[in-house]
Amino acid sequence: ALPALGVDVGGTKVAGGVVAPDGTVLATARRSTPTASVAETEAAVADVVTELAGAHGGSLAAVGVGAAGWFDRTGDVVLFSPHLAWRHSSLRRDLAARLRRPVWVGNDADAAAWAEYRFGAARGAELALCVTLGTGIGGGIVAGGQLQRGAHGVAGEWGHMRVVPDGRLCPCGNRGCWEQYASGSALATTAREVATRSPAAAARLLDRVDGDAARLTGEDVARAAAEGDPVALSLVSDVGEWLGQGIADLATVLDPDVVVIGGGVSVLGEMVLRPARERLDRALPGRGFRPGPRVVAAALGAQAGLVGAADLARTAACAEHRG
Ligand code: BGC
Ligand code: ZN
Repeated sequence: ALPALGVDVGGTKVAGGVVAPDGTVLATARRSTPTASVAETEAAVADVVTELAGAHGGSLAAVGVGAAGWFDRTGDVVLFSPHLAWRHSSLRRDLAARLRRPVWVGNDADAAAWAEYRFGAARGAELALCVTLGTGIGGGIVAGGQLQRGAHGVAGEWGHMRVVPDGRLCPCGNRGCWEQYASGSALATTAREVATRSPAAAARLLDRVDGDAARLTGEDVARAAAEGDPVALSLVSDVGEWLGQGIADLATVLDPDVVVIGGGVSVLGEMVLRPARERLDRALPGRGFRPGPRVVAAALGAQAGLVGAADLARTAACAEHRG
């Protein structure tokens, strides 16, 4: 069987890969995501596909794109995207026209959930939830071996559950969304606040950005935490706590056997997962009397999205060939 090409379009980067049928990533390419217009974002996606297809040389089973947007049931229309310019946009048609080949498109976190179910940490799960921590928080649900998209295609958008009344403003238009407290951007927002208020305490963070707090990113905080900077470590563990509380709420509604944590922030591993599990243990209703979910890192790490997009595209292409 031929490899397929998968692309993950996040709020920060476009990451593509050539993916073997068993989920192995054979080659990768990436760009930063242009966010100013739909045309620029789509051009970057097309670039990544063209680069990878050229490097690969041989034929491909299919091309799949998982993007940080809310898709309708058909996958033809991106209804909305909090971090990118899509508003009722015809992503699938636009990409097919640019690339002159059929493309599968869908939500990035749905693709990540699917990859973890097929090849990763959620194999064999009855009900698996995926929570991706990147620019925002993405969500995907696999139940009974099927990706669950909801009645309108937009299930699992729990990055936008309100966790703080009148909290931080979110690009979705609401305040206090979960992703404002537990994503890569949340790490950056809090780090900037701390560095502005207490520059002395945040000296090691500020060193990374020539003293300019506004330039701090989630990655800066992650690197500083990995090097043992206490302020960065406490920012990371706060994110873990917010994560654990949100998982307790998800478990209350859906009772999953496993919750897989993916996305860029998940490379921090136990630094985020330990406080998340501890918080979950303290917050799950009926704790001590009922089972809760396992909380594990994505086995495919930050590549889960592109692997899932490739596999979903392959599955869709096969279904079409069978007619
Ligand atoms: C969006 C999701 C997306 C996630 C991660 C969220 O803000 O609502 O659709 O999956 O960010 O990129
Ligand atoms: Zn929101």
